Amino acid sequence: MIGMLLNKDLLIATHNAGKLEEICSLLDDFPINIISAKDCGLLEPIETEDTFIGNARIKAHAAAKKTGIPSLADDSGLEVYALGGAPGVYTADWAETRTGRDFNMAMGKVNDALKKINAPFPRRARFCCTLVLAWPDGSDEVFFGSVDGEIVWPMRGQLGHGYDPIFQPNGYSTTFGELDPSEKNKISHRSLAFNKLVESIRA
Ligand code: IMP
Repeated sequence: MIGMLLNKDLLIATHNAGKLEEICSLLDDFPINIISAKDCGLLEPIETEDTFIGNARIKAHAAAKKTGIPSLADDSGLEVYALGGAPGVYTADWAETRTGRDFNMAMGKVNDALKKINAPFPRRARFCCTLVLAWPDGSDEVFFGSVDGEIVWPMRGQLGHGYDPIFQPNGYSTTFGELDPSEKNKISHRSLAFNKLVESIRA
């Protein structure tokens, strides 16, 4: 079914510029015409579910229903084991302020929470990504990816987005914030989920 996307429009149902850029480069090799939620003037739906898949479904189906275009949404987040999986589905919420998202503040909150409980090192964590491809007929397909690593402090690196400067993937001495985007794209939670999506495009 996913092969039906070739040479067609695909709406990326995200308002997050960093994610959009990553997604575009992950789909670069395919003749797919990418349209952004902004291009269609879509509003950001409220994420009312408490799972990644639930929230990704809300975003993808809202966009597909509104536009009639197959729509892809990503719901992702950081799970810190010593914090019982927090911030998890609330990863974006931890960055929320009255004037927009502040990720330096959010990364500080993660470090403060770990300090408060004197969490042992290494402070294991993983980034998760659930992709939902919603079709205008109401059906969907789901793909999941995750990458294991640890939380480091202080933050390191100016590249990437979100919580990248405090996440060091296993086997690396650099954070996602220090990795060249093309390197990050080889191992990230999002790229692993995308590999699965791409396999189904090819199938
Ligand atoms: P949502 O999927 O839009 O609900 O938000 C996911 C949250 O996780 C955002 O705050 C992102 O900044 C953060 N996040 C997701 N993927 C990454 C990543 O690759 N690097 C850094 N932060 C990420």
